[in-house]
Amino acid sequence: MSFLRAGGPSLCQGCVHVRRVESAKGSVFWMCGRHVGDPRFPKYPPQPVRACSGHSPAPVSRGLDAPDGKGRVERE
Ligand code: SF4
Repeated sequence: MSFLRAGGPSLCQGCVHVRRVESAKGSVFWMCGRHVGDPRFPKYPPQPVRACSGHSPAPVSRGLDAPDGKGRVERE
């Protein structure tokens, strides 16, 4: 599921801590890297996330909503 299909832009979309996880059946999940060692952050936060104390802006857009879903870099 893309962030946009989940209900609009999410803070996770531009966060350095998010990771895209794809199941063997092709389902896509967004995993929060901050869940490791900090129980305040769910491993798979319900999307969209509108407020988050752990958000850190990613240095570049990683194209997480790109049509091919590969998370490519879109701009420098
Ligand atoms: S720290 Fe917050 S904004 Fe960043 S990936 Fe985790 S839940 Fe999303």
